[in-house]
Amino acid sequence: MTSAANAAPARTILVVEDEAPIADAIAARLRSEGYRVEIAGDGPGGVTRCAELRPDLVVLDLMLPGLDGLEVCERIQADRPVPVLMLTARDSEHDMLIGLGVGADDYMTKPFSSRELVARIHALLRRVDRARAASTSDRAKTTIVVGDITIDPAARRVYCDGDLVHLTPTEFDLALYLGESIGEVFTREDLLTEVLGYDVASGVRTVDSHVRAVRRKLGTDVIRTVHGVGYAMEAPA
Ligand code: CA
Repeated sequence: MTSAANAAPARTILVVEDEAPIADAIAARLRSEGYRVEIAGDGPGGVTRCAELRPDLVVLDLMLPGLDGLEVCERIQADRPVPVLMLTARDSEHDMLIGLGVGADDYMTKPFSSRELVARIHALLRRVDRARAASTSDRAKTTIVVGDITIDPAARRVYCDGDLVHLTPTEFDLALYLGESIGEVFTREDLLTEVLGYDVASGVRTVDSHVRAVRRKLGTDVIRTVHGVGYAMEAPA
């Protein structure tokens, strides 16, 4: 038995990918790891299946018929926060996504090894579990207020000027991690290890993407770039 099968009832993963051989290969590998897997072959199908299935994680291809992965990501995240691992066909697409600060929790460029895919999925689910455990534990943390931003760790919610703002699980974890030490500067490597829970060289670009996404949603001033060092959360001047 794999560790995933031992841990808890089978987790459900939705794979949204229009290239059937790739979708089938991903599904077969994830099933062998003990996950329950369903496949959707286009964008609208992915949105519908996600609403019906309420999966624990979504593997989402960027280039899809009907609705592209960006649109699908936005729609499924609007419904409820669900971890998304985005697949891109080229490095240039990966860079474009990072530039946009798309609300995916992680990114992989095809072709990738199924071993790395599994490692990333395990890391993502572990983080979500850890966050859930922290939010329900007795030592629920106190609310953090930074300028107009209020972070409620127990409810895993963020408000901007009193309005609820939807963050992905990774964006929330990043905002909370920085917000727990206002003014302290963290390197991208620190954030990769502490927030994303893994350590691969390409991952630091993913950190930048999440920072951009948080800025886009909460305001550009809330996270300061310390050139040559990293990032810090600060109350806007
Ligand atoms: Ca595709």
